[in-house]
Amino acid sequence: DLWQGIDFSRSKAEARVDGSTGVKFGDVAGIDEAVEELQELVRYLKNPELFDKMGIKPPHGVLLEGPPGCGKTLVAKAIAGEAGVPFYQMAGSEFVEVLVGVGSARVRDLFKRAKVNKPSVVFIDEIDALATKRQGIFKESKDHLYNAATQERETTLNQLLIELDGFDTGKGVIFLAATNRKDLLDPALLRPGRFDRKIRIRPPGAKGRHDILKIHASKVKMSESVDLSSYAQNLPGWSGARLAQLVQEAALVAVRKRHNSILQSDLDDAVDRLTVGPKRVGIDLGYQGQCRRATTEVGVALTSHLLRRYEHAIVEFCDRISIVPRGQTLSQLVFHRLDDESYMFERRPQLLHRLQVLLGGRAAEEVIYGRDTSKASVDYLADASWLARKILTIWNLENPMVIHGEPPPWKKSVKFVGPRLDFEGSLYDDYNLIEPPLNFKMDDQVAQRTEELISEMYRKTVSLLKRHHAALLKTIKVLLDQEEISGEEIEFILNKYPPQTPLYLLE
Ligand code: ADP
Repeated sequence: DLWQGIDFSRSKAEARVDGSTGVKFGDVAGIDEAVEELQELVRYLKNPELFDKMGIKPPHGVLLEGPPGCGKTLVAKAIAGEAGVPFYQMAGSEFVEVLVGVGSARVRDLFKRAKVNKPSVVFIDEIDALATKRQGIFKESKDHLYNAATQERETTLNQLLIELDGFDTGKGVIFLAATNRKDLLDPALLRPGRFDRKIRIRPPGAKGRHDILKIHASKVKMSESVDLSSYAQNLPGWSGARLAQLVQEAALVAVRKRHNSILQSDLDDAVDRLTVGPKRVGIDLGYQGQCRRATTEVGVALTSHLLRRYEHAIVEFCDRISIVPRGQTLSQLVFHRLDDESYMFERRPQLLHRLQVLLGGRAAEEVIYGRDTSKASVDYLADASWLARKILTIWNLENPMVIHGEPPPWKKSVKFVGPRLDFEGSLYDDYNLIEPPLNFKMDDQVAQRTEELISEMYRKTVSLLKRHHAALLKTIKVLLDQEEISGEEIEFILNKYPPQTPLYLLE
């Protein structure tokens, strides 16, 4: 018999039982509210009899809901770890088998084990794979495998519901499930009595990111000089998992470079690896090409520093430029993000300053090369016209009387594409809201005003950079020599070469 010796009903969860997961709440950061709420489960698990005696009904199931990588599994493990009880984990997809009856047997088995070893925690990850909406009357499809799979999933879900309903007999077992697609779940599962609690696990904010970085940094050898808060600030939308990966990647870089501990430069390198990709070898722009790249990047960076310095602009400034080709890009400019509040109520001057920054690349080319401009600054120019168009349309700061099309699709933005780096979204990242709906008659007008706005800002930027010709040249020179330059180095150069420094003073 081919199947002999294979016990399909045995859940794989068995392999994952260990006395304790070893995870504590101290390993979790950025989701304090959720942790606060989950403390109660720990108290219960530590002393289920007490709850019994007091006549307090134990919490039934808890649904953890939220985007991937933000700590749902981690926090579930921490509950078991804090209480020091066994943890039985399975992924929803592991229950879904084509063989009839296997899924429901696994559910039964999983709960049986948990009850035998109670108090304990049962955790089903990706419960949506198992508990998508049932189709009621089973619809036949031509695809037999599909039919079998659907039927099997529904029987499995029914078994899960039975287990959840019969929970009173298995006091001392906490059932936790996680999903990032609550909308897909079968309503029967969400009825009261099955999941008493639904807890949202949100992506971390800047402070949360800082705390998460600190946790993961404490597990490796991180140099004391590293400023983790600036990474937390500059990586909006990064999940806990991604931040953990960043620290790991930085550790690998440090080992490769034979550093004794992880340095700031290792973390920078790791950020670049995770965002734009590893360094590319065998691509040579030649010295002329390098000069062009350096000129446009420095133009953008310097404009941001100058605007902050001399016009009190609230714009992102440059943390670092690198002209080492990586992934799909030939050079990278990393901006230092402002705090979240600055993005909430951006005002016209702020947006116009940002527009000037984006035009800085082409402006620098003009200052250095005259009319002989290249396409090196074309990406920034595309961003600039997009921004100008938005200033004139959806933000409508130019003329509040004109409302174009429908209300802005604020909520649709999920990804942040900064001028260079590609970050996953945070609430206030509005670089790529989808194209504002325009009515056709307005379109010509908008195009014309966009052009006017851009050329006005461009002229301003060119004269700004002309006034700082010496600093511009010096920064380009340093970048070409070192291949990288930091924001502090740019500030240093600006101190040394104030406006209108005669060029012959450049050493
Ligand atoms: P989810 O279950 O939400 O998809 P995980 O809990 O599996 O995410 O997270 C994967 C890893 O990422 C964790 O093991 C941990 O190293 C890290 N991580 C995620 N969120 C956090 C957090 N809030 N605090 C600390 N580390 C986290």
